[in-house]
Formats: sequence, C-alpha cells, structure tokens
Amino acid sequence: MVTIFILDCKYKSFIFINKLLCGYFCKMNFSLIIDLMDFKRILIKWYGENRRDLPWRNTTNPYYIWVSEIILQQTRVAQGLSYYLKFLDSFPTVFDLANASEDAVLKVWQGLGYYTRARNLRSAAQHIVDKYQGEIPDTFDELIKIKGIGQYSAGAIASFAFKQAVPAIDGNVYRIIARVFGVFTLSTTAKGRREFYDIVVELMDKTQPDVFNQALLDFGALQCVPKSPKCEHCPFGKYCFAYMHNLVHVLPTRGKKTAARSRYFTYLIIKYNEYTFINRRKNKDIWQGLYEFPLIETHKPITLPRLTKHSEWKKIFGRNKHTISYVSEVVKHQLSHQTLYTQFIMVDILTLPRILNSDYEMVLATDVDQYSTPKVIDNFMVAEPASKYFLNNPE
Ligand code: SF4
Repeated sequence: MVTIFILDCKYKSFIFINKLLCGYFCKMNFSLIIDLMDFKRILIKWYGENRRDLPWRNTTNPYYIWVSEIILQQTRVAQGLSYYLKFLDSFPTVFDLANASEDAVLKVWQGLGYYTRARNLRSAAQHIVDKYQGEIPDTFDELIKIKGIGQYSAGAIASFAFKQAVPAIDGNVYRIIARVFGVFTLSTTAKGRREFYDIVVELMDKTQPDVFNQALLDFGALQCVPKSPKCEHCPFGKYCFAYMHNLVHVLPTRGKKTAARSRYFTYLIIKYNEYTFINRRKNKDIWQGLYEFPLIETHKPITLPRLTKHSEWKKIFGRNKHTISYVSEVVKHQLSHQTLYTQFIMVDILTLPRILNSDYEMVLATDVDQYSTPKVIDNFMVAEPASKYFLNNPE
C-alpha cells in the first residue's frame, strides 16, 4: 500500500510519497493525508451504487465501445444514446462501416455535429479492415495510431474492451483530479497533460482498469459536475482539496477563452418549379461534406437591399428574372468556436440561370431531406412555412 503524506509545502514541511509523485506534489500547497487505496476504494464503491446503466457499458465488443466513445466526444449521453443505437443498427460491424458510403455515414450522423468524427470513423474502419482484417487492435499503442482515435479514446477502448491498465482521461477526469488533489496546472498544456496522466496512472486500480476508468467518468458526469458539484454528499468530501479550501469554483484552472468568431450565413432557397439547388461543402471548414443551399457569407449582418447587390447574388441571378417570396428571421446557432447568424431567403425563378445549372445540383425540394445537411438547415426545413415546400405539405 502506498501512502501519501503531504504536509504544507509552503511551510517547508515534510513530504513522503513515492518517487514519481514527489516532484509533482511538492509544487502544491495543501495539507492532506490520503491513501491511494482509499481513493480507488471510495471511487469504486461510489460507482457500484451510482453507475449509469448504458448499453456500451454492458459489452466488451471493441467496435461498440469505439463507436460510443467517438459519439460521446462533444455530445451529452442523453443525446448520444439514440445516435449510438441508430449507428449500430445501420452499421452493425466494422465491415459494414468500412463498406458504407460517406454520404450514408453522414446521414446517420446528421444533427450530431462535429462531422469530422463520422468521416474519421469510416476511414478508420477501412484501415482496420485493410490492415487488421477487421480485428480492432487490442493495445493502446496500436489504437492510438488509428486516425480519429486520440489518447482518451485509445485509453477507453483498451481498458473497457481489453482490460489494459491505461488511463482514459477526459474533461471529467481532469476536473476530479484538479479538485481532489488541488492541481492548478492547465490541462491544455503538454506539461499539464503529463502531470494529470501520471497522477491517474498512480491512482488507478490495475486489477480492474475498466471499472476504475468508468467510475471516474461517471463520477465526473454525475457527482463532481462542472457547476454546482454535490460536495455536501460527496465521499471525497473530507479529502477534497478544492472543497476544503473553498476553491471548487476555481478548479480546474481554465485558460483564457478565445472569443467566438461571428459569421453571417444567408441561404438562398431557390424555387424552380418543384426543384431547388444544393451543393456539397468542400472546403476545410465546418460541415465539410454536408449539403447546403447556395450560400452568401458576410462578415457582418446584411440588409436585403444590400444582399441583392452582393456580387454572389449577382453571380447567381445575373439578369434572370427572380422574385423574393419569403425572408426568414435570423437564427443564432452556437458552435464551440463560432457563432453563426443564419437567415433563409426564398427566391422564385422561371428560367434556369447558367451558374445554377453548372455549379449546383438541382433536386426535388421534397428530396432534400435525403441528403446530409447541417442542423440549421434541418431545422429550417421542418419549420413553417418552409415545411410546405420541403416536406410536400401543401395547405
Ligand atoms: S467534494 Fe465536491 S469538488 Fe470535491 S470531489 Fe466531491 S463533488 Fe468534487
């Protein structure tokens, strides 16, 4: 049993700890005596009483675990659950995913955001089929080499599916460690990540790394939550540095937030009889690979008169006769680092402008929902009055 005695460094007190953690804990300023065995015992006991019953927890199938972990990056469990079930229903094995078209995968992913995850899943599945004959590698070191599988996902798959004793550290784990042990280092730096990693390796229960990692994740998701953690009923209450020092609101240390960039998207719903026009986003930008209507992007809000004088508008309509039949409200859509202000304008045309013929796909308006589109477009298509046009729902 390894016991950590930490007395306040500021007062040049004595620290007795194993070699690895000594250097790290010396930099901290707190008085605490905690036993490593106690940490895992308390955590795993809490998990036994509070664990979430999730489908990917009741399996050791590495493909299922991999899919769940990729879906749950940037996505809450409540939202991710239905996508997980739908995804496995559509692509039950790594071979099904490898053989699927990118469009088919994006369609199932539609609405979940961060579409690079879906594209990487598919190309990783192809790599696994080509290089490993469809067998998902069973070690962290092999998993981490696969596109789209990062430190956290590799740790989760290796420990949950193969019981390899490696950490799976996500934002929940950083938060718990920072609070319980008073770690002020930023987890976004390489040095910070190393420090947190070393601590978790020391703490983890090597005999049941799957249970230990899952327990940490659930503890962070249910008990030691970002805002208003349940400290008064926490089994770590008497050990927790942040709670004892009234620093729960300070830890984990947050870096400076970069201001979200504002973008202004005006989508043109061009109605040509029962047809409309879409194209696929190709640039390395948000929503790469998804379909959208002709877009005019501006750096600031634009009025309708100015829009009709915009070079992109002129490029599309030229001298063709066109009539604006509907202008939507501006809808704000928040992404992690961007704020989008999106507006939809319906324009009726009787003849086909050349550019629409060459640069866009002409599709039946009622077929647009067959394509993978960003959530802002999905929402618009089911809203009144657009639903009448897109969902074949005449008055
Ligand atoms: S006492 Fe509060 S801050 Fe500390 S581990 Fe428990 S819930 Fe988190």
